[in-house]
Amino acid sequence: MTTTITHWVDGSRFDGTSDRWADVTNPATGQVSGRVALASEADAQAVIASASRAAQEWGQTSLARRTQVVFAFRELLNSRRDELARLITAEHGKVHSDALGEVARGQEVVEFACGISHLLKGGHSDGASTDIDVHSKRAPLGVVGIISPFNFPAMVPMWFFPVAIAAGNTVVLKPSEKDPSASLWLAELWKEAGLPDGVFNVLQGDKVAVDALLTSPEVQAISFVGSTPIAEYVYETASRNGKRVQALGGAKNHMVVLPDADLDLAADAAVNAGFGSAGERCMAISVLVAVEPVADDLVARIAERTRTLLIGDGGTEATQAGDGKEADMGPLVTKAHRDKVSSFIDSGEQAGAKVVVDGRDVAARGGDQGFYLGPTLFDHVTPDMEVYREEIFGPVLSVVRVASYADALELVNANDYGNGTAIFTNDGGAARRFENDVQVGMIGINVPVPVPVAYYSFGGWKRSLFGDTHAHGTEGVHFFTRGKVVTTRWIDPANRPAGGLELGFPQNV
Ligand code: NAD
Repeated sequence: MTTTITHWVDGSRFDGTSDRWADVTNPATGQVSGRVALASEADAQAVIASASRAAQEWGQTSLARRTQVVFAFRELLNSRRDELARLITAEHGKVHSDALGEVARGQEVVEFACGISHLLKGGHSDGASTDIDVHSKRAPLGVVGIISPFNFPAMVPMWFFPVAIAAGNTVVLKPSEKDPSASLWLAELWKEAGLPDGVFNVLQGDKVAVDALLTSPEVQAISFVGSTPIAEYVYETASRNGKRVQALGGAKNHMVVLPDADLDLAADAAVNAGFGSAGERCMAISVLVAVEPVADDLVARIAERTRTLLIGDGGTEATQAGDGKEADMGPLVTKAHRDKVSSFIDSGEQAGAKVVVDGRDVAARGGDQGFYLGPTLFDHVTPDMEVYREEIFGPVLSVVRVASYADALELVNANDYGNGTAIFTNDGGAARRFENDVQVGMIGINVPVPVPVAYYSFGGWKRSLFGDTHAHGTEGVHFFTRGKVVTTRWIDPANRPAGGLELGFPQNV
């Protein structure tokens, strides 16, 4: 049985009028599981209009009421997270426990947004001038567009919409067409939580839907997450159309291992961060920079661990049907993506990198037709190789050997991307120096996937971010609101001035 995944507008499902649909596939089995609507320009306008109609009333709804709705959403999400995780696994392919982790990290942002009353407090200066007080406030923007990638169909939208909604905006979410069901599920949850119709809308589709959001005069801001070329396009197009934009792009995250590091800890971390979610994480480690003389020892420890990984269908039914042990790593999202990642492995081998563990020889549990690729470990990778330069976005870990800390730092800083990085060491001084010297937005010290907690902000540097505002935390609140400063004069009746005309520029006394 296949499902039909529609748009969500004014609190209801909407098929749209385009009659364009795309197949949605379960990557673990290779079977088509549903079809998703692809919006026409007119469909997009209908969804944007719904958000626009709801914007004024929601923006003027009290903070108390808005918080209650966000809190109710948090409670529902927490009690039904397993359901959402199953949907994610069925369309993305990540194993169930990893999908639960995704939901938990998204929920953290919802919890952060429950504190919106505190976050929106402005400043007040009493008696800034004679009989003059000044206060500042932050107002919602109106309609905001969120465009999300396939790899976190629930968490990435939740980096933005809890804060946007709590701050009084209305939302049009354009999810990835590869795993769109989570977005509809979240829309239904908002309705159950008591969110008024039109405040949260879902626009399914491809470039047509994205372009409509980027150019619509009704849309005030765009939060985008995806690959760098599209992030750059989104940033330029939306900015040209007068919008506030934050466009988070791709990554090539390096993990530096210094000679004094605990190599078992580092090897565990490299495997977890390199192959978790089949490497389809923007914070995955894809390059391990081994500072000599540790490389031989470290590569051996990583290879030993990599060979133990169980690849297969990570759905709960498949786990139960097996020996009860969940697979460590699921399939890649589509056949085309699996084949592309596989061709990167061919390219690395041809360029002379040493294939220590070859993921092309995968024996995956459950599903001959699934889009599986095993974990691949390359050694002796050099910066000129394609496998080093390109964002592969799959389970491929490349070891680059360097002679010193200075060489490691130079390598990381020369990279076009600046999303995340990690250093493994027992030397606090070296770690502190790295933290100061490295040109990357998110840094882990003995932490391989340093995704910031919700009350800090998530975002990279260089070609990993277009715009200057990171997601969630105080930067997220700032992004979804506009500042106003109010200067008020109430004259004390006891010293009422004579008045009179004064055309000079007002001076504070
Ligand atoms: P993608 O760029 O292909 O798609 C992202 C979104 O853009 C989707 O909603 C898609 O429908 C839309 N899109 C695709 N092509 C378009 C076009 N030509 N014009 C307009 N819109 C278009 O990315 P993806 O493959 O879904 O996701 C993986 C990428 O996302 C990786 O590069 C990864 O690093 C990146 N990512 C980055 C972060 C981060 O925080 N920096 C987080 C997650 C994912």
